[in-house]
Amino acid sequence: MADHFEVIVVGAGPAGNAAALTLAKAGLDVLQLERAEFPGAKNAQGSLLWAPALEQLIADFHARAPLERHIVEQRLWTLDGDSHTGSRDWTTGTGSSAPDRYTILRAPFEAWFSSALRAAGVRVAFATTVTEVIREVDGRVSGVHTAGGGDFYADVVILAEGVASLIARQSGLREDLHPQTVALTIRELRRLPRPLLENRFGVQGDDGVVIEASGVFAPGIRGTGFVHTNRESLSVGVGCMVGDIVVSDLTPSELLARFKRHPSIKPLLADSEVVDFSAQLSPEGGYRVQPRLFGDGWLCCGDGMQPGSPAHREGATLALTTGRLAAETIIELSRHGRPMSARHLSLYRDKLERSPTLRLLHKQHASDSAAEEEHVFPVADPRRLVRASRVLRRDANGGGRQKRMLRHFFRGSESSREVSGAA
Ligand SMILES: Cc1cc2nc3c(=O)[nH]c(=O)nc-3n(C[C@H](O)[C@H](O)[C@H](O)COP(=O)(O)OP(=O)(O)OC[C@H]3O[C@@H](n4cnc5c(N)ncnc54)[C@H](O)[C@@H]3O)c2cc1C
Repeated sequence: MADHFEVIVVGAGPAGNAAALTLAKAGLDVLQLERAEFPGAKNAQGSLLWAPALEQLIADFHARAPLERHIVEQRLWTLDGDSHTGSRDWTTGTGSSAPDRYTILRAPFEAWFSSALRAAGVRVAFATTVTEVIREVDGRVSGVHTAGGGDFYADVVILAEGVASLIARQSGLREDLHPQTVALTIRELRRLPRPLLENRFGVQGDDGVVIEASGVFAPGIRGTGFVHTNRESLSVGVGCMVGDIVVSDLTPSELLARFKRHPSIKPLLADSEVVDFSAQLSPEGGYRVQPRLFGDGWLCCGDGMQPGSPAHREGATLALTTGRLAAETIIELSRHGRPMSARHLSLYRDKLERSPTLRLLHKQHASDSAAEEEHVFPVADPRRLVRASRVLRRDANGGGRQKRMLRHFFRGSESSREVSGAA
């Protein structure tokens, strides 16, 4: 293999794939390096895929990608000890536009995505771990060292290595992670015969349901849980801030076990069996903790730039979007014959700031912070929310009591903040 390329992409998760595919389609010579033995073996791509970000890369993916179910119903639940309150948002998904969310299984989906990259001309090397970036005497990044696979050089290196960002940290391009800015998500894939699943969740054909829950899984631990329906399986998981797990007595799998034992969740899982298990970190720091995103000869995208925030669960969407924008920055500079210096790569920051997806995240972060400062974040104490909801349901004529209950709920929410969104 040649040892010089126009671009090296480190990582074959959604961010690296989006970057490599966009670059190759524009005719650039791209090498993608991935430490896993095969597509999807080590990345964190989840089970819920928002369509628009992938549509921008592969317009007809709806017809070509291995998709499980398209989501017609979203249930948002707030759990207390033995019950829940929540909402159901249902759509037929048969309007003029294609469905906007799907469940996917990581292994077949990543294999398909990777084959699309190779078809577009990306050179993909699996089982190749990058150990460090190569720097010139002036500090410019000019390539990467790999474990046992030699050195590779490029005009620019895209770091799409996920949340742990080991290379960026070891190469002094970013600081260490803080436990309060990363969540740990533990997920099981549970096989459930199709007729049982469809009967239990009230769906048919390729329709699917997503349940997202926040609740008191354990005192003092912030977290959320989820149940996603696939064709013949369920993805079930919980996500909690690493800092909270560290100070608690519970192991991550005990947290998952508590979620699965909850009376609202347990019946949904009956007769299912575990076929896969994974635990991964995901960024939750958002704009507050964003590291440097580019420098002379390098850019970073995806989870490594800490795009997540507790209220935002579309990690793969952000990864696909930032990967594409990193690639479009390079394509633009290359067309104008500009060097890949920090000064010119700052165009990436402009593109991120103009991106509707990233602007939405920024706004969401601002409203999260405002809500936290004002102590009115409505999931602050799920038990209050469940109690308030019960009063509203059972006490239809008791206007005075309802008002008192709601006042009590909002006023008191600052005193207990056991749960907010993660994962
Ligand atoms: C359990 C879990 C469930 C989730 N569910 C959802 C969901 O349902 N929907 C959603 O939108 N998001 C979800 N997310 C978030 C989403 O998966 C991530 O935001 C997304 O995968 C980030 O993409 P990425 O490409 O930046 O990083 P990753 O997907 O982590 O990919 C990074 C890749 O880089 C490779 N790599 C790392 N270091 C090196 C190295 N030194 N050399 C070579 N290769 C290297 C890794 O092996 C990996 O393949 C979930 C996350 C977790 C943890």
